[in-house]
Formats: sequence, C-alpha cells, structure tokens
Amino acid sequence: MKIGIDLDDVMAICAVAYLRKFAEEYRVELPDEREIGWHLLRDMDPYVSPEERDRFRIKLYDGTFFSELEVYEDCPAVLEQMVAAGHELYFITARAERRRYITETWLREKGILDHAKAVHLKPIGDFRPEYPRGRYDATGSAEYKTRLAKELVLDAFCEDDIVIAKTLADAGIRVFLFDQPWNRDLVGDRVTRVHGWTELAQHLGL
Ligand SMILES: [Mg+2]
Repeated sequence: MKIGIDLDDVMAICAVAYLRKFAEEYRVELPDEREIGWHLLRDMDPYVSPEERDRFRIKLYDGTFFSELEVYEDCPAVLEQMVAAGHELYFITARAERRRYITETWLREKGILDHAKAVHLKPIGDFRPEYPRGRYDATGSAEYKTRLAKELVLDAFCEDDIVIAKTLADAGIRVFLFDQPWNRDLVGDRVTRVHGWTELAQHLGL
C-alpha cells in the first residue's frame, strides 16, 4: 500500500511537550498526562487570549521545539517493517515548508528519514491569508493533506487530527486514527482507531 503518515502526535510526541511549555509560561494547571492534548487550549480563553496563544506558538516553533521532540518508542521499528513488507511511505505534515530543514534533520536523527519515499510539508501558498498567523488551521491542513493524498494516490493515511482524518475518510482514503484524547469522538466506515504503532503493525499483518 501507499501510506501517508503524519508527523506530530503520530511519529513525534508533540502535544504533551507543547502543553507543558505552555503551562510553564502562563502558570496554568494541566491534568493527568494521559489527558493532555490540544483540546485543552480551547479552554484557556479566560487565562490566555487566542492572540497571545498565537504569539506563543510562533515563538516556540521558531525555536528548538521541533528538534527536541521524542519519537514514539515503537515507531522506527514498525516503519522499517512496513517498508520491508513493500509498503510505500510518504511523510506528510502540515508544518510549514520553511521548517523542512529542522524536520528532516530530526527524522534523520531518529533514524527514520530513509523510510520515506518523500517528505511533504505545507507550501506557503496553502496558508489562508485571512487566517491569523500562527493559529492552527485544521481546515486548511485537511484540504492540503487530502489533495496530496489524491495526487499521490494513497491507499491509507496515519493521522491524529479529527478534522483532517474525517476529511481524508470522506474523500475515500482509509484512515488509521492514532488514538489521542482529542480525537475520541471520531468513528467512521473508513476510520480504524489504533493505539500506537504496534497495533498498526497488527492491522497491516506485520
Ligand atoms: Mg498530527
């Protein structure tokens, strides 16, 4: 199969690291680690304005954040098995194209860059000009990933974002939804929920 694979919160452990830094900066309380996720940012309005959250995001992403993320422990081995089994892997992230260097350096350090046929980041032209800079744009990212999935004729996509996963599934692409606290509501015909890489390997018969 030709399989698209998202980076953040699928390969890289991202939300927990992000929310921890956020909580440190603004001195807000976080729940138990298992429930930490992007959905919590929505509840921050009384404490940290959306505009301030955008500034925080830009500052963090312009720094060393992406180079310091951990990879999910069983991810590298399963990627290797997938390639060995004949699957073609495409790493597809909504990170901006200008983050290619930091992204590919990280993938190389984690020993997984060579498993990808190609690494795709979101091109400049795909950003909606009217949309606040620095704010997470799930709809724009869903359009981008779905268009690319069709161009590449992907059979499946590994994703954690609920809007992106639903858009891909609606477009006829099988989704392996990596279980996260923020995507528990999504079910669908073409959506298979997996609790990590080892479970994905089982679904693929590896
Ligand atoms: Mg993601």
